[in-house]
Amino acid sequence: NNGDERAARIPRYVRVNTCLWTTQDAIRHYQEKGFKLSSPFSSDKAFARDDHIPDLLSFNPQCQFHDDICYTSGKIILQDKASCFPSTVLAPPAKEDSVVIDATAAPGNKTSHLSALMANKGKLYAFERDQRRFRTLKTMLNKAGCKNVEPVNMDFLTVDPINSKYAKATHILLDPSCSGSGIVNRLDYLLESEENEEAEELQSRLNKLASFQLMMIRHAMKFPTVQKIVYSTCSVHAIENERVVSQALKTEEAIKGCFKLAPRTQILPTWHRRGREEDMDFTGDAESLIRCSPGEDATNGFFVSCFIRAQITRSMEV
Ligand code: SAM
Repeated sequence: NNGDERAARIPRYVRVNTCLWTTQDAIRHYQEKGFKLSSPFSSDKAFARDDHIPDLLSFNPQCQFHDDICYTSGKIILQDKASCFPSTVLAPPAKEDSVVIDATAAPGNKTSHLSALMANKGKLYAFERDQRRFRTLKTMLNKAGCKNVEPVNMDFLTVDPINSKYAKATHILLDPSCSGSGIVNRLDYLLESEENEEAEELQSRLNKLASFQLMMIRHAMKFPTVQKIVYSTCSVHAIENERVVSQALKTEEAIKGCFKLAPRTQILPTWHRRGREEDMDFTGDAESLIRCSPGEDATNGFFVSCFIRAQITRSMEV
């Protein structure tokens, strides 16, 4: 079936958790285990460093890591390449006084990536609304040795942007619930079920997701000192991606806060697949967006955007 074929073209991605060891050490470890640095498709004992994500390794799709001690001890995280893009684009500062928010954190892959990029310094608030998923998040963060993270079991939309704890946040990651239509091993199932779903029902489900996603972006824009907001989904639907971004740029929060899309030079410029121009209702900015196409890009389907403040606003001077 198509999904299996697509999955076979996606390497097994392994992110080295630099909160616990270095990528050099990880490479040496796998070489000692008999793996050779070469194209991951050349043999089932081959692996490579990724071209876009510094601490990401790619192995043959046949490789299994669930019993690997490095996985069970949190030293490696099994995370698709595209899902490493948002934290990389957010590029949170690794300083003792950094304040960063992950608004929708569980199960915590991107949270642990942010924590590693911050060199485990400063403060990373990780919000998760769902109680069960929040427990999973806490377990994951403990295992991964993320000491700068404070997990909070709370709906991000109810977080007061001027609360003294959070008001100093300069970077926010927003990876909210979405249709999940880009996930390759769920792709056939999802697209099939979407085909069977009445067009109207599908439209109404996507519309609801899109209004929730827009609300989340607008809320993030209310944080007084936020400089950078990354919004991502694992959806292939423009309605949850380019269209949400276009709408967000027209909101009162974006206009007052002087938010615009970060230019291509600041958002993985060497990544080839960009946003869909035809789904933006203004011109020129689709280049500022990233898309990953399931199967074609050796990743799952994914979307990443990045809002930055165009200028210092009065709220930032408070
Ligand atoms: N970023 C996560 C990762 O890489 O592991 C995946 C996040 S998942 C796509 C979205 C998560 O956001 C879910 O766990 C969901 O329960 C949570 N969520 C949805 N709405 C929320 C809200 N308003 N506040 C906080 N968490 C929320």
